[in-house]
Amino acid sequence: MYKYIFGPIQSRRFGLSLGIDLSPEHKSCNFDCLYCELKPAKVTDSITNPPLVTSVISEVKEALQEYQNIDVITITANGEPTLYPYLDVLVDELNNIKKDKKLLILSNASTISDLKIQEILKKIDIVKLSLDCATAKCFKKIDRPIKNVSIENIINSLVTFRNKFHNTLILEILVVLGVNDKTEEFNALKKVLDKINPDRIDLGTVDRPPAYDVKGVSIEKLKELREYLGEHNVSIIHKEKPKSRVDFSKDEILSTIKRRPQSEADIEYLFSKKSKENLISLEKEKKITQKNIAGVIFYTLL
Ligand code: SF4
Repeated sequence: MYKYIFGPIQSRRFGLSLGIDLSPEHKSCNFDCLYCELKPAKVTDSITNPPLVTSVISEVKEALQEYQNIDVITITANGEPTLYPYLDVLVDELNNIKKDKKLLILSNASTISDLKIQEILKKIDIVKLSLDCATAKCFKKIDRPIKNVSIENIINSLVTFRNKFHNTLILEILVVLGVNDKTEEFNALKKVLDKINPDRIDLGTVDRPPAYDVKGVSIEKLKELREYLGEHNVSIIHKEKPKSRVDFSKDEILSTIKRRPQSEADIEYLFSKKSKENLISLEKEKKITQKNIAGVIFYTLL
C-alpha cells in the first residue's frame, strides 16, 4: 500500500500516469478555487508535515517496478505541489530514476515569479500551469488566491519563464459558467497567450463536484470560446457524443487546419467516416502532419 503514490491513471491528455501526492494528509493550497475538487480549506503557503524525499523516491522506485508501462510520472499535491519544500532535490532524484518516462508537474502557477521555482521547473519534461483568467478581477473571483499573489505578476513571470524553458509548456484554462466565460476575458487571455506561446492549451470546464456552488459550460460553449484563442494548439476533452458528424472535403479540412490545429479528439468528435478518409489521404499527400504534444495528437499543416 503506497502512501504518496496513486494510480496509474489513464489520462486522455498525458497517457498512463503514475501520480505522486506531496501533501497526502491535508489540502495545502495557496488558492481556494471555486471549481476545486477538494473540500474548501484555509489558504496556506506551506505544506504541513511534508514527506521526506527518500520516502517518496522509495515508493516511486517500487511502483516503477510494478507498473513498467506508464508514460508519465506526475508530481501533484492535495493542493499546490510547488509549495513542497524539497522539490528541487525530489525533481533531481526523479530524473535519476525515471529512465524513458516523462516527468510532469501540475501547478496553479502561483509561485512562477520565484526564480528558484523557475530553475526547478526547467528540469521537468512537461510543466502544466493554470491560467484561468488574465484580468485581476476575474482571477480573484475564480482562483481566490492567498494575499500577495497577483495575476499581473504571474503573467509577466510566465513570459520570462517561457523564454528560458525549452521543454513542453501547457497552460490550462478551466471555464466556470458566468465567471470566466466572457468574450472580454478570452480576448484578454488571447493577448497573454500570444506572448507566452505555450505548446498546448487545455481548455476544460467543471465536470466533477466542485468545492463551491458553481457550474461548468457546455461543449459548444468551450468550442465557441476556443475560437477567441486563434491558432494555438487547444485541446478540449469531448465527453459527450456529438449529435451528428460532418462530411468535410479535403479543401475544407485544409482551411480548418490552417486556422487552427485540430486535435485527435476534435476529429473523433466531429468528423464523419468520409471526412476521416479525406484526412488520411491529405496526410499521405504530405499536406498535413501529426504532432504529438505531451500525449495529445494534433493535425497541423506540413
Ligand atoms: S489550485 Fe488546485 S488544489 Fe488549489 S484550490 Fe485550485 S483547484 Fe484546488
